[in-house]
Parts: sequence; C-alpha cells; structure tokens
Amino acid sequence: MPDSKHHFTNKLPVVRAMVMGANDGLISISALLVGLASANSEKESLFIVSIIGLLSGAISMAAGEFLSVSAQKDSEIADIKRESESHKNHPQEEHDELIELFVERGISKKLAKDIADEASVDKELLLKLHLKEELGFEGEIKSNPLQASLVSFMAFMVGGSVPVITSMIVSLGSVILYTTLSSILGLVLLGGVSGYLGGSSPFKGALRVGIIGSIILVFSINLGKILG
Ligand SMILES: [Zn+2]
Repeated sequence: MPDSKHHFTNKLPVVRAMVMGANDGLISISALLVGLASANSEKESLFIVSIIGLLSGAISMAAGEFLSVSAQKDSEIADIKRESESHKNHPQEEHDELIELFVERGISKKLAKDIADEASVDKELLLKLHLKEELGFEGEIKSNPLQASLVSFMAFMVGGSVPVITSMIVSLGSVILYTTLSSILGLVLLGGVSGYLGGSSPFKGALRVGIIGSIILVFSINLGKILG
C-alpha cells in the first residue's frame, strides 16, 4: 500500500486524528450555526445549540475513532501473530519468501539470500523484517485507541470552536457571513496542512476541503431558510 494516505496513517496517526477531528468540528458546527441563523434563530438559541453540538459531536467523534483504531490494532496484533506462527511452522517457506521479497525490490538473488541468511540468526529481527517487508509495519504497534479518541475529542472541540466563537462575537445579522468566512478559512488551512502531511499538494488539499465545505454551508443556509 504505497499510497499517501497509508503513509500518512502509519507515520502520523495522532496528527491524522487531529486534522480529521478539527475538520469535522469545523464543518458540522458551522453548518449547524449558519442553518440555524438562516432559520431566524435568536443568539441565545444559537449558543445553546452550538454548545450541545460541540459536545455531542466531540463525543461521537471520539467514540468512532476509538472503535476504528481498536479494530486496526486488533488486525495488527492478528497479523503479527499469524506471521510469527508461520515462522515457527514453516521456517523454510518464510526464508524463501523473504528472498523473493528482496528480489522483487531489485536486489540480486545472491545478495537477497545473504541478507535472509544473516537475518535468520536473530529471530526477533527476522520477524520484524518480515512484518516490514510484507505488511509495511515499522516494528511495534502504533495504533493507540485511547490516545486517538482523546485527540479526536479535543480536535473536534477546537475546530468547532471557530464557528461558535465567530458567531458569538458578531451581530446576529452577520452570523451567516462571518461564520461562513471563518469556517472556510479554517478548512482551507486544515486542508493545506493535511495535504502537506499526506505528501501530496497542500493547494490541492486546501482547494478540495474548501469547495466541499462551501457546498455544505450553502446547503445548510438554504435548508435553514426553507425550514425557518
Ligand atoms: Zn513472512
């Protein structure tokens, strides 16, 4: 899996959870706020609803992240177990497989064999090498469900606070305009950061999130008008 998302996920799981949480908080809370403001809500109800939205969104984000990272961790543990059992039961096949993997990478058969022979002396190192070559593991399990869920919770709160604070400091008549502007700005910045971290173009990431965010906000504003 050489794609950038995998790269991103493997290297910076905490940063990924942070960006995703902040993104979600920004989009969902700003959509809620502009929708309510379009439906002629009072400032007090805007405040109450956005606080409820912030908390419930952050909790559900944290729960979702906990479940998904737990599942990922389970599958990593299962992979390690499967691989280590295979080493016990079929050492020769595993040895040949490692040579094959190196050859596929463009290493000569002779050198590949030498590396595999030398690696087979240290069983722990050998297992690590297999996990890295076959599954892209860096050795230890990095998925931490609790950490990911806490980070997501905080990130959602921070992201969602941008539209909440904006809507509270401007007059009721300008809530839609300024909440939209500050949220799009926040989304574009986050999109740029996540594009950069993912190894792709920050501009592309920023543009993509900016466009999607704008569509969602325009939809919410119109929905608020219809319902209000
Ligand atoms: Zn193997």
